[in-house]
Amino acid sequence: MSPVEKSGLYYPNKFGLIMIKALEGVMGRNGLNAILNLAELSPYVDNPFPDNLEKGFDFADVSAINKALEEMYGPRGGRGLSLRVGRALFADALKNFGALAGVADLAFAVLPLQAKLRIGIPAEAKIFSQISDQLSTVEDHENEMIYTIHKCSECYERHAVDKPMCYIAVGLLQESLRWVSGGNEFRVYESKCMAVGDEVCEFVIQKDPLST
Ligand SMILES: [Zn+2]
Repeated sequence: MSPVEKSGLYYPNKFGLIMIKALEGVMGRNGLNAILNLAELSPYVDNPFPDNLEKGFDFADVSAINKALEEMYGPRGGRGLSLRVGRALFADALKNFGALAGVADLAFAVLPLQAKLRIGIPAEAKIFSQISDQLSTVEDHENEMIYTIHKCSECYERHAVDKPMCYIAVGLLQESLRWVSGGNEFRVYESKCMAVGDEVCEFVIQKDPLST
């Protein structure tokens, strides 16, 4: 496997730390090492990212990790792990970021469910747009929200894939919806993906929860 060529697009270093921690949480230390080896990112084992917001975690590294998960566990297994890693990314740390931190406030907790989604999900998109090169936007429709990633790390330099493949983003959205809503699960699917030839990666969120 050849490493993915660097993109020059970045997340903050802190997100790299969070990603490594999420991978370790889901797969254990040995699994983490195996994935980083396969992704040709093993230097991160001994030289972890600094805990700061400087942009240093390249989109190509996320793409390489996603690809390594798929190669090691097959498309199905890789997909399940990517979803779990995405959930862990949010649960471990992102929920404490910026505007999302306010979600724990009492004033937020008493809002109606749909208002929570209307505030919380754009807040998440804004965090990514502000502190990383992952430009993200949200459109609110009657029954669904459309979450669009205009520059996507997960499928960076992936082409001619037959189905949308950005499952870390799906897991991250599912967990953020659970957090923002106070415990509900929502249906989220990727409707467009740059790896299959679309202009953007687009995720459809059904606004009615699966469980109440
Ligand atoms: Zn993508």
